[in-house]
Amino acid sequence: MGATENKKSMVSFDNTEIAFEHLSDKDLDFAITMFKLMQNPTLVKIGTALSNFALALRLPISPIVKATVFKQFCGGVDLNESLKKVAELHQSHIGSILDYAVEGAESESVFDDTKNQIIEVIRKAETTPGIPVACMKITGIARFGLLEKVTKRTKLTETEKDEYLKAIDRFEQICKASFETGIPIYIDAEESWIQPAIDKLIESRMRIYNKKKAIIFQTLQMYRWDKMEHLNKLIKESKKEGWFLGVKFVRGAYMEKENQRAIEKGYPTFIQPDKESTDRDFDLAIKTMVENIDHVEFCNGTHNALSSMKLVELMREKNLHNGDRRIYFSQLKGMSDTISFNLAKSGYNVSKYLPYGPVKATMPYLTRRAEENTAIAGQMGKELSDLVTEKNRRARKN
Ligand SMILES: Cc1cc2nc3c(=O)[nH]c(=O)nc-3n(C[C@H](O)[C@H](O)[C@H](O)COP(=O)(O)OP(=O)(O)OC[C@H]3O[C@@H](n4cnc5c(N)ncnc54)[C@H](O)[C@@H]3O)c2cc1C
Repeated sequence: MGATENKKSMVSFDNTEIAFEHLSDKDLDFAITMFKLMQNPTLVKIGTALSNFALALRLPISPIVKATVFKQFCGGVDLNESLKKVAELHQSHIGSILDYAVEGAESESVFDDTKNQIIEVIRKAETTPGIPVACMKITGIARFGLLEKVTKRTKLTETEKDEYLKAIDRFEQICKASFETGIPIYIDAEESWIQPAIDKLIESRMRIYNKKKAIIFQTLQMYRWDKMEHLNKLIKESKKEGWFLGVKFVRGAYMEKENQRAIEKGYPTFIQPDKESTDRDFDLAIKTMVENIDHVEFCNGTHNALSSMKLVELMREKNLHNGDRRIYFSQLKGMSDTISFNLAKSGYNVSKYLPYGPVKATMPYLTRRAEENTAIAGQMGKELSDLVTEKNRRARKN
């Protein structure tokens, strides 16, 4: 039995027919071309630099980006356009996590606009099938430097105090909208030098809003060596105080940046000593959640087939129903369809992050996707080979 196959649960991540059923032959060829292009690190480097440069100069590059990487990884330029993708995924029993992917802009009006967008998604989710949960980044509604100061417990100026209160108020409005509609919200984890401020905000709101079920979800990055301890503390506190712990688990996206900063500033990095340690803690965290399932709800946010299959196994051992509402599997749009679609076909709860926003604003997100899908990252090979396997399978059939 292959590592990505579970005969008893009848799930196989090797089934490309199920995984790419939603793609026409034309769509399949498009995805193959995109991943082939992204395999070339030089092309990705030059392509992203040129695109950013052209966008900065207001050259008409958006249609090209929109027809290529944007199409592969994003839902649309606005909520309305993304709803078509939501409906398509819903047909395959996959939920969408609409992610307003505007990054880097730091003004009060942009923060207010982002807060309004998130609340609009939450309200839309209440009446639209296929949007089980919403998501956000705290840096979408609060200034990075301010969060850094709060983390360092640096005394804030009067203006900064006012700014921080406004950010807290935005977060409170979002949490309230989630609570009122019953649509949970996943809050992303970010850099370690702002994360304590983020955690403090989230944990205070979990205590208020998670009394009957998990509405507010924290994200734990298991590439950090201190996160198992953090998880155990949260489980203990939530049980003692009588609220439900909601967690999205990921390995973590800022490894190089974290290590680099630790070297520059001369402190021990928060990153695990090796990939095996990250994998060990990721899987241990998921096992811990399954063991405490009556007090927690969680999302397994990974493209790692083994970690996904381990959760399938654990659920079977614990006699949990495939569609147990407390457990979600989640991947990003345009990636790991072999995991998402095969799990969904077997009745597991699956959702895909569906970033949306104006093309220019999604460039940092698209750049990260393109970079992590170059040949050196490894994942690319798997995405491409799955797509090519499906193309060959269809060719044999015809
Ligand atoms: C649904 C979803 C939501 C996400 N939300 C967030 C979020 O809120 N915050 C965030 O930071 N990221 C987030 N990510 C990205 C995520 O953290 C990972 O970068 C990405 O998913 C790759 O990890 P993996 O488990 O899919 O796969 P794998 O390929 O198994 O793991 C790769 C990851 O392992 C870790 N790693 C690699 N080498 C080493 C090493 N030498 N030492 C220690 N660790 C190592 C790194 O985290 C790397 O990204 C999200 C991903 C998904 C799918």
